[in-house]
Amino acid sequence: MAPTSPLGLFAVDDLIQDEDRAMRDTVRRFVDDRIRPEIADWYEAARIPARELAKELGSLGLLGMHLEGYGCAGTSATAYGLACLELEAGDSGVRSLVSVQGSLAMYAIYANGSEEQKQEWLPRMAAGDAIGCFGLTEPDFGSDPGGMRTRARRDGSDWVLNGTKMWITNGSIADVAIVWAQTDDGIRGFVVPTDAPGFSAPEIKRKMSLRASVTAELVLADVRLPESAMLPGAKGLSGPLSCLSEARFGIVFGALGAARDCLESTIAYAAERQIYGRSLSAYQATQLKLADMTLELGKGMLLALHLGRLKDSGALRSEQVSLGKLNNVREAIAIARECRTILGAAGITLEYPMMRHANNLESVLTYEGTSEVHQLIIGQALTGERAFR
Ligand code: FAD
Repeated sequence: MAPTSPLGLFAVDDLIQDEDRAMRDTVRRFVDDRIRPEIADWYEAARIPARELAKELGSLGLLGMHLEGYGCAGTSATAYGLACLELEAGDSGVRSLVSVQGSLAMYAIYANGSEEQKQEWLPRMAAGDAIGCFGLTEPDFGSDPGGMRTRARRDGSDWVLNGTKMWITNGSIADVAIVWAQTDDGIRGFVVPTDAPGFSAPEIKRKMSLRASVTAELVLADVRLPESAMLPGAKGLSGPLSCLSEARFGIVFGALGAARDCLESTIAYAAERQIYGRSLSAYQATQLKLADMTLELGKGMLLALHLGRLKDSGALRSEQVSLGKLNNVREAIAIARECRTILGAAGITLEYPMMRHANNLESVLTYEGTSEVHQLIIGQALTGERAFR
C-alpha cells in the first residue's frame, strides 16, 4: 500500500480554496529553497539574515498579507494562516519575523494609526524595506501587561517616553517600534522611529529557543516624539490585545507547520532506519506513535481551518483564538518531542528538525499569551468568572 502523508489522510487540501492553495504552495517552495538549506546553520550560529529575508518575504507579498491597501496583498485570513504554517515548517523564527511585522507592528498602525502614519510606514513595511517590532512586555510585566511602567508624559505638544521593554522580537533590527506606555489618559501606543535619540535595543543573547530570531530589550531614555507619534485609534489595553489576537491567529496555523515537519521527517527516517534487521516503521510501537501524532496534527488542522473561516466571515471571537493557540501549540510541542524519541540519538542533533522545533515551540508556548493564560481565557468564557487574579 502506498504511504499517505499525515495531512493527506485528512484530505485537508480539499478544504482549501484553489487561490489559497496556490499561495501556500509558493510559500512552501520558498521555504524549501531558501530556508531549509540554511536553517540549521542560522540556528546554531544564532544569526539570521533578517533584513535580506524581509525583502524576499515582502516581494512574495507575505508581510501584512491579510491587510488591505498600502501595498498589502489583501488575502484571506485563511491564506495568511496557511502561509504561517509553511513558514513555521521551516522555522518558528522565520514565522515570528513575519507575524511580528504583519500582525503586530503593521496591524497596530493599520487598525489604530492616522492616515499619515499608515502612509509613512505600511508600504515600506509591506515591501520589507522597513522592519517593525512591538513593545508590550516589560521585565516585570508579561502576562499582566496592564501593570506596565513605561510612561509617556506630555511636554508642550511633544511626548517624552521612558521605560524598558523586554523580549521584543526584531527589536534590535527594527526601523520602527510600536511602544505601549502609560499616559494620564491610560495606555496608549506610540510609533517610535528607532533612530530617535534616547532609543536603544540591546540584543538578548544565549537563548536556547528561537535562535534564528532576533530578540531584544528596548530602552527608552527621554525619547522625545511629536504629538503625531501617538496611535489615535488605540486607547487602553484593548489596543495591544487586539493586535495580539491577530498574531495568535497566525500561531494557530504556524505551530502545526513545525509539527508537520517533525512528523514527515520522522516518517522518512523510520522508513530508512533498520533495527533488528527490519525498518523502524514496520514496528507496532512506531506506528502507534505515528497514528496518535497524525490524529492530533489533523484535528489541529481542522480546528485551524474552522477558525480561519470564522475569521474570514468576521465572526471569530478572541476566546476562540485561545482555543486554537492553546491546543495547537501544546500538541505541536508534544509531537516534536515524541518524534525525537523515534529518532533516538539522531534526534538531538541539528541534522534533523525535531529538537530545533521543540525548542522553538517552548517560546511559542509562552509568547502571545502563555498556555495558562489561554486556559484562563477559556475558563472565563465557560464560567463567566475571571480567575486571573
Ligand atoms: P510571566 O507573566 O511572569 O508568567 C510566568 C508564569 O506564570 C507562566 O507560566 C504563566 O502562565 C503564569 N501565569 C501568569 N499569570 C497567571 C495567572 N493569572 N494565573 C496562573 N498562572 C499565571 N513580548 C512583546 O511585547 N513583544 C514581542 O515581540 C515578544 N517577543 C517574544 C519573543 C520570545 C522569544 C519570547 C520568549 C517572548 C516574547 N515576548 C514578546 C514576551 C512574551 O509575550 C512574554 O514572555 C509572555 O507574555 C509571558 O510573560 P513572562 O515571560 O513575563 O511570564
